[in-house]
Amino acid sequence: MPRIDCRASLIGWVAQFCCFAAVNRAINTITYEGSNYVALTDTEKTRQQLIDELSSLRLELDELRPINEAVNRAADAIISVDTSQCIIRFNQGAELVFGYQAEEVMGEPLEILLPPHFRPAHEGYVEKYARELSGSRRMNERSEIVGQKKDGSIFPARASISRVERNNNVVLTVFLRDVSEIKNAELEIRRIQDELAHVSRVGMLGEISASLAHELNQPLTAVLTNAQVLRRNIEAMPAASEEVKETLSDVIDDTKRAAEVIKRLRSLSKPQRLLKESIDLAQVITEVENLLHSEFVMRQADLQLQLAADMPAVFGDHIQLQQILLNLLGNALDAMEQIDEADRHLLIRTRLARKGFVEVCIKDTGVGLEEEQHEKIFEPFYTTKSRGMGMGLAISRTMLHAHGGKMWAENNRDVGAAFYFTIPVANEAEAVRTTRHENLPGKDLPDRTSVFVVDDDPSIRQAMERLISSAGYAVETFASAQAFLQRETDDEGGCLLVDLHMPGETGLDLQTTLNNQDYSTPVIFITGGGNTAAGVRAMKQGAVDFLSKPVNEEELLNAIARAVEVDERVRARIARHAAAKEKLARLTAREAEVMSLVVKGLLNKQVADALGISEKTVKVHRGHVMQKVEARSVTDLVRLSEITAEDS
Ligand code: ADP
Repeated sequence: MPRIDCRASLIGWVAQFCCFAAVNRAINTITYEGSNYVALTDTEKTRQQLIDELSSLRLELDELRPINEAVNRAADAIISVDTSQCIIRFNQGAELVFGYQAEEVMGEPLEILLPPHFRPAHEGYVEKYARELSGSRRMNERSEIVGQKKDGSIFPARASISRVERNNNVVLTVFLRDVSEIKNAELEIRRIQDELAHVSRVGMLGEISASLAHELNQPLTAVLTNAQVLRRNIEAMPAASEEVKETLSDVIDDTKRAAEVIKRLRSLSKPQRLLKESIDLAQVITEVENLLHSEFVMRQADLQLQLAADMPAVFGDHIQLQQILLNLLGNALDAMEQIDEADRHLLIRTRLARKGFVEVCIKDTGVGLEEEQHEKIFEPFYTTKSRGMGMGLAISRTMLHAHGGKMWAENNRDVGAAFYFTIPVANEAEAVRTTRHENLPGKDLPDRTSVFVVDDDPSIRQAMERLISSAGYAVETFASAQAFLQRETDDEGGCLLVDLHMPGETGLDLQTTLNNQDYSTPVIFITGGGNTAAGVRAMKQGAVDFLSKPVNEEELLNAIARAVEVDERVRARIARHAAAKEKLARLTAREAEVMSLVVKGLLNKQVADALGISEKTVKVHRGHVMQKVEARSVTDLVRLSEITAEDS
């Protein structure tokens, strides 16, 4: 029969407080027999009472056992301390959270579970809590505290405390949860929110840039067109100095480059096809070197080029390659900022790499890359600069992938970093096409060939008028589609240059109206925003071309020349039809019948038989026909009837 000593019972602290005191006072020893407790006292009455009391206590203990078990196994740490703040309970959750086994901490002061700097304040707080309150109380709020594990690491926790008092014994129990993961998740959420805010700021920046680009595009178009006009005028002046010509050419080239940058800026906001062509990489590098020349001087860094001789042309987008190089060189200059001025050296080297690829290396003597940075630097928004965007390398790498190339970075053996990229070599078939025309079109055009410019922007109208008229065309400008439709028409030949986006009737509306007329002047669209859908519609409706502002002089004049050629061809055909019709109208019904049979190849006799007239009469009609339609042979008659047939 097993003997149970309540003081030694491991059933738990709750049982201790509920029953131990009462039992202790009444009896010294209890035996357990079968399913009943039996008290070993002399007094029968007391004996019966004790038996009843103990039986009900046993029931209570049975009920408490699962609760005690649950407390023990709870995931949260549950730690009880006595009045001297020594640990008397340390459940499995506490073992997991703090890394101690219960045996290690039983009887130890609670403060071993706290970081040293937190101990005095905490001890005072627990003491005060134990002293001030009477009865049992649960502390409602969970407060944020910091715990210390066995390995010394500290962690954030949320804890509440409850106080139980029985017979002047106070037990404080701390319920504690490690919230490191929650805290980390909160930090991660905050980081993502910051990133989102950053992305939306960047997005806003993009929108501002797009509208700014649109605004800049208009005056830039006018500047470029005017400068091109000036060049044409100056070239025609025998006295013009070479210096003036060169300066003007520089102005035009720089304006074109500014226009390309604006175009590119706008294209960033919408998906765009790459403008790939054969490119002389050495030339792009030299352009970028020129662009950054003053930056190199200011930052006291020197740039050395080691460009492989006989390098084949690469196949890529000129502007994107410039952007990539500008970004890499800019980064290299930044990386050398902390370095002594005398040691700031930059090298651009090109070589023919694996088959079909050119490799470019940009090597600096800057701070170099940390181990973990090698890939991170290509992630969007990764930057170590206070004013950086962290987008340059991410965009550059994406651009190169779109070209079929690659980009990577390495540390140099001595100092600094080297950035590499590869780009495919162009095929022979894609060799650079020279598009420069020695003889600009339009010089020898008839007087009545007019180019009609319809654009709501007065400065663009004026600049276009200058440029187009300098190429020998008569130019008429209109501020709106209505103004063009209401003009006094003289049935002039030429073409129409129309802005796609205009307030009121758009360029496409005007084209539709013109298509409903007998004859439509060929239309060239010119647009500030390359809208693909509008472009497709315009071309389907018969537009000759669809150009983007600011338009290159040659591109525009070539398009005009094509449009004028179309116009001349169509007008000539219309004129031929009209003349042929007019000639045929001179014939009598019988003569027309004779002619239709003659052009079918019938002989006079066959015609006579078909019409039931004499062969002699056929000959007379035939003679009249030849005379009236001014034909010299049957072939002329055939051509005439073909022209009129085409018309129907
Ligand atoms: P940003 O220049 O706006 O920071 P980038 O994407 O161009 O954006 O560069 C990302 C980061 O890569 C830079 O902030 C810098 O830490 C690192 N980096 C780029 N180029 C170099 C370099 N040549 N040397 C050392 N670190 C570089």
